[in-house]
Amino acid sequence: GISCQSDFDFFYFVQQWPGSYCDLKQKCCYPVTGKPAADFSIHGLWPNYNDGSYPSNCAGSSYDSTGISDLKDQLQRYWDTLSCPSGDGDKFWSHEWEKHGTCSGLDQRAYFESVLRLRNSIDLLSALQSSGIEADGGTYTLEAIEKALTQAIGHKPGLECNRDVDGQRQLYQVYVCIDTDASTLIDCPVYPSSSCSSTISFPSF
Ligand code: 5GP
Ligand code: 5GP
Ligand code: 5GP
Repeated sequence: GISCQSDFDFFYFVQQWPGSYCDLKQKCCYPVTGKPAADFSIHGLWPNYNDGSYPSNCAGSSYDSTGISDLKDQLQRYWDTLSCPSGDGDKFWSHEWEKHGTCSGLDQRAYFESVLRLRNSIDLLSALQSSGIEADGGTYTLEAIEKALTQAIGHKPGLECNRDVDGQRQLYQVYVCIDTDASTLIDCPVYPSSSCSSTISFPSF
């Protein structure tokens, strides 16, 4: 119906590896708060359909930064922006809210709080490190990375790769599937098309 903005099937919770974002773009810009930690950061929480398609830019409230100003420290820490020119994050959060958040069925505050809670409960870097996978520019099998993350998360994530300057595929984004309640981790109904090869690198940042 016309008032139904939340008839999607599940969320992708997507985190990015900053080393691979900067490498892909050949250039990135550190946020105004300085170089982010060498850790995965949030890209977004994206409503999705089981057939792989997704709703976007649903009608609804436009972004209001004042409603989440008390979350800004946490957002800058875990949802930092690496695009150029340097920003304080507001442009990135606004884009993600309007493109994806407005289709989530959540109000803006609940959307950002849910994203931060998910980030706090899903520690990808520790999961990889406890299996001996370090962001040191080394090459790892896709299987080892999938296994380490699946063990820690309890569900197999989707992996997206991009290429470094030498054309070598590297770990870029990790997609964890979340139920429509925005908190329960689930098996992915569908995976993003795989852009990784059987061995990939994990660059430093
Ligand atoms: P790209 O074309 O760079 O892979 O994706 C561009 C943007 O489209 C993403 O940052 C995201 O906003 C959206 N997008 C790409 N793939 C998916 C997907 O599988 N599901 C959803 N919900 N959004 C996606
Ligand atoms: P999406 O790909 O989700 O549709 O859009 C991402 C948008 O946010 C792009 O316009 C991109 O330039 C901007 N952006 C700002 N900071 C970042 C960042 O750190 N990572 C990514 N992936 N996009 C960012
Ligand atoms: P491939 O190297 O197979 O063409 O791309 C793998 C993935 O990395 C694709 O899903 C694509 O979204 C992303 N990718 C690769 N190269 C670029 C690039 O130059 N710009 C952008 N925006 N995405 C890229």
